[in-house]
Amino acid sequence: MANPALLHHNKTQFAKSIVELCPGVYTAVGYAASTQHMIEGASSITIIDTSESTAAAENVLAEFRKITRKPVARIIYTHSHRDHISGATVFCEGGELPIIASAAFSSDLIGKDDSTIAPGQALNRRTQAQFGIGLSPQQRVSLGCGPSDRPMKGMGAGHIPPNQLIENDCEMDLDGVRAQLIMAPGETADHMVVWLPDQKVLIPGDNWYHAFPNLYAIRGTPYRDFAAWADSLLLLAELGAEVLAPGHTLPVFGADRVNEVLTTTRAAIVHVMQHTADGMNAGLSMDDIAAGIELPAAIADKPWLGEFYGKASWSARGFATGTLGWYDGNPTHLGTLSSGARASHMARLAGGTDALQKAADNTDDLQWRLELCDHLIALGESAELLKAATLEALADDEINATARNTYLWEAERLKQQVADA
Ligand SMILES: [Zn+2]
Repeated sequence: MANPALLHHNKTQFAKSIVELCPGVYTAVGYAASTQHMIEGASSITIIDTSESTAAAENVLAEFRKITRKPVARIIYTHSHRDHISGATVFCEGGELPIIASAAFSSDLIGKDDSTIAPGQALNRRTQAQFGIGLSPQQRVSLGCGPSDRPMKGMGAGHIPPNQLIENDCEMDLDGVRAQLIMAPGETADHMVVWLPDQKVLIPGDNWYHAFPNLYAIRGTPYRDFAAWADSLLLLAELGAEVLAPGHTLPVFGADRVNEVLTTTRAAIVHVMQHTADGMNAGLSMDDIAAGIELPAAIADKPWLGEFYGKASWSARGFATGTLGWYDGNPTHLGTLSSGARASHMARLAGGTDALQKAADNTDDLQWRLELCDHLIALGESAELLKAATLEALADDEINATARNTYLWEAERLKQQVADA
């Protein structure tokens, strides 16, 4: 089972299509986790973003080639995320091309030192969980930002480092099409959006997509600057675009609608910041801040703010840790109880591990059941299968694709653990 709203989002936003934004400008949707764009000039084309795999890039290029045979003159990266830069070799078609990106461009695929101490294995595991790598098609019904079903061949294989770095906002002639490259930090600090002022087409990268913004990605990300993202959305709204072609999900048409999606998404980010700051100022616990967050009525029902990808409660936690760090102001949390010690105390309080087990079996509160399972597992009791079943039950209702995938991926891992024991 899967949440019907999540299924609907996947079906409507990620159906394969080449969308004409205006004469000569096209977006490929549904061929990869991200979208790719083609701008046709007098005798050449410009490609914006290149997908996450060479296989997806080949499929997209084949579609673009049905429209024009003009050679690719340049590639522009909106930002450094893997799902936008990893099909570049395909679009170069054997040649060398200008690859244009913000001077702030920074990718872990390029030029990173392996000797840096970092939790790489944890990131890898959590990334697989978030995207449901290895789950069945019935389990992985969406990526939240892209179609559940996409080619995996050549994943991450076709990236090319940018060779033309842009320091400041500038105008660029794309073979007869006037473009402005605008620095707009948001989902990443190195976002550079492409604005075609004559066609009023805006390509904002991942600073907007049809889902609640992923202000904190559960695979593990450093702090994403909420205030900068909100500011950039205002700047983008003020351009007066008539077409918005995001880095994920379908394009949006019509000046009023484009303005509405950008300004309401900005309002959602500002609301998370305000709610969290107010809660922290009032001395609330992080759990209470996260549990109490609700979007204001004026924007709560906007379909593009559905929590298919990002989630408001995670964002609140992200803002709190991104601004004041992990300490929440409650001195209880300055000390540390190990999981085992806490579990022992809980078992004693409950009247023994059997009572704890019974409580886990009998509660209808699935979140509480998970917490009881963790205590039992910390005590060496076998609660792995109960935890797996609870994760699967949560996944059935979950509207957020990354949460659903993670629940199911971790449930599979627990069941495997028990089978292997
Ligand atoms: Zn992306």
